[in-house]
Amino acid sequence: MLIDFWPCVQLIKTNRFAATKKTTTFVTAQKYILPFLMPTLNPDDSIFNQLETFGHKKVVFCSDPDTGLKAIIAIHDTTLGPALGGTRMWAYRNETDALHDVLRLSKSMTYKSAIAGLNLGGGKAVIIGDSRKDKTEALLRKFGRFIKNLNGEFITAVDVGTNPKDMEYIKMETQHVMGVPESIGGSGDPTPIAALGVFMGIKACVKELYGNDTLTGKTIIVQGIGHVGENLVKLLRDENAKVYISDINEELLGQVAKKYGAEAVSTNSIFDIDADIYAPCALGATVNTQTIKKLKCGIIAGSANNQLEDEEVHGQMLLEKGVLFAPDYVINAGGIINCYSELMGFSKKRTMQLTENIYEATRNVLRLSKAENISTIVAANKIAEKRISDIKKVKSTY
Ligand code: NAD
Repeated sequence: MLIDFWPCVQLIKTNRFAATKKTTTFVTAQKYILPFLMPTLNPDDSIFNQLETFGHKKVVFCSDPDTGLKAIIAIHDTTLGPALGGTRMWAYRNETDALHDVLRLSKSMTYKSAIAGLNLGGGKAVIIGDSRKDKTEALLRKFGRFIKNLNGEFITAVDVGTNPKDMEYIKMETQHVMGVPESIGGSGDPTPIAALGVFMGIKACVKELYGNDTLTGKTIIVQGIGHVGENLVKLLRDENAKVYISDINEELLGQVAKKYGAEAVSTNSIFDIDADIYAPCALGATVNTQTIKKLKCGIIAGSANNQLEDEEVHGQMLLEKGVLFAPDYVINAGGIINCYSELMGFSKKRTMQLTENIYEATRNVLRLSKAENISTIVAANKIAEKRISDIKKVKSTY
């Protein structure tokens, strides 16, 4: 029986969405306590307290000494559908860091799918280990078996430290995996779609600030020209925007600058440039007290996850400074849209349509932020939470 090889602890609590003292309670659609996405975690808290703080439904600890597998699968919310989220492989300093990361990431997946209008819940998995040294076929296939045992409640995909080949191994054990190569029926590389979503988000912000959404003549700094960044540079240059690029990889910087006619700038000078838009496409937390003070642009919109160092503090600072911030999880949903499309039976046309909807989703966030004089991140959280709350009520009737 499958359960025989399932030496894991399952911590299950009822599906009570974010109803804790530190987060939001759904009372009515209009009446919210200010919703902030990420509660502060107290590492000394018990695991159950941490789950309550984040509002998680279920967390599965996967252990297999034979393959060296140590993984955590976190299912945050399944009101809208199965929890879909990538599997990250990372050499965490300790298990507490791994748990915190998976709780944080899975919760943000709930919001990302909700605001993108997808019928998906939020989940994420982390495998503790060095992806360059510790990854083996057996470890990944064993991990696939743990996913299989969740019977479709959790569906995984690629994340930091994993790649489409790894998903192929997981797929040998379970169907509940997306982002496999096109050659075996998957949706292939999601990064052009992710870049298109960011591009639509940028356009929505430009429309809000300038009255039309043309990027011709606008100046944009793209920080990080990796998979998403380079595709974004292409879209921006195709619309005749002036593009500055920065990356710690000097060789790549030179290549991309030449290929698209962009201007390469050093990493430490980007906040001195007088540009219209800053597009962070490298790391999180680049928007903080120091950089906001220096920032000259009127729009921040990029792919990097968790761009605000502190959502509450820096979201508010941007509001007060009059800088339009497109919340990252709203505009970087192209990757998850690609996976959703694969789940539904991949269609390029449908994927593009769903991704283009990011324009309207961003406009809605900006409108709510303006109407209620709240930061855009709070506005986005409210919209995502309202959709989950509404659909929960719909599903309560047989
Ligand atoms: P990537 O690793 O391909 O590219 C990141 C680039 O940033 C690299 O070229 C790296 O050299 C550069 N970089 C790192 N530190 C930097 C720094 N301090 N200054 C300038 N450049 C720096 O990653 P990616 O897939 O393009 O993703 C970029 C960001 O978008 C990440 O934060 C990722 O989590 C997020 N994101 C990606 C996807 C996706 O589909 N790939 C989807 C949603 C969000």
